[in-house]
Amino acid sequence: YGKLYVVATPIGNLADFSFRGVEILKQVDLIAAEDTRHVKMLLQHYGISNRVIALHQHNEDNAAKGLLQKLHDGQSIALVSDAGTPLLSDPGLPLVKMAKEAHVDVVPIPGACALITALSASGLPVIPFSFEGFSPRTSSARKTFFSAKLLCPTTWVFYESSHRILASLQDMAEVLPLDRQIVIARELTKLHETIVKASLANALALVANDDNMRKGEFVVLVEGAVIDKSDQVITPEHQRLLEILLKECS
Ligand code: SAM
Repeated sequence: YGKLYVVATPIGNLADFSFRGVEILKQVDLIAAEDTRHVKMLLQHYGISNRVIALHQHNEDNAAKGLLQKLHDGQSIALVSDAGTPLLSDPGLPLVKMAKEAHVDVVPIPGACALITALSASGLPVIPFSFEGFSPRTSSARKTFFSAKLLCPTTWVFYESSHRILASLQDMAEVLPLDRQIVIARELTKLHETIVKASLANALALVANDDNMRKGEFVVLVEGAVIDKSDQVITPEHQRLLEILLKECS
């Protein structure tokens, strides 16, 4: 078997590509990319002329089977996505899963990831955190999603598109307390990089009032719920209810 390299590429600033990433893309027999045109810009920048084939959401299972056959024939393959780390809200899982099952060596080449980049500069607690991928596309599904996170005690993070960032914050403001701290990380590593930490109310006002704050790519990070310990004290009233319930149960 050949090796399968899972190669992280930059999320904006091309200088963020690792030396090892460049070397691997030069060496492998084949590059499997989410978007062949997109990756060609990266390859051109680094003077890499290698064969690229498409592995996008719509052909993933079939393409993965074909790639597994090539690995079987001894070819080495680099998997890349349009930006950042493959599989993180990007294609690649079927191929990596099949490769692992076939005992192919799967070698990660680490690099940029918007989620981790945003977390590292957010000032929010990072351990533990949860990553939710993209928020749902419709308003009602988003409200359900935000409601489910209402009491989550740790930082949670999701990806958002420029088309939905305002609507998403509006939905969030209907569900979460307005003083909840959030961080909007926009255009990371690019010219217009902006990382704002504010209450939900202020963040919403900022995005609503500034057109530029609705442009580009976004990671949204939300502070975990602060559970008021005093709420957990058992009052005489709770005690009385508990006794009644216990009697009912016995
Ligand atoms: N695999 C990528 C990674 O490792 O971060 C993410 C791919 S996902 C399809 C693309 C989404 O990631 C964007 O819509 C945005 O939410 C987020 N993203 C990617 N690059 C970003 C950047 N430079 N700044 C902020 N968010 C970014």
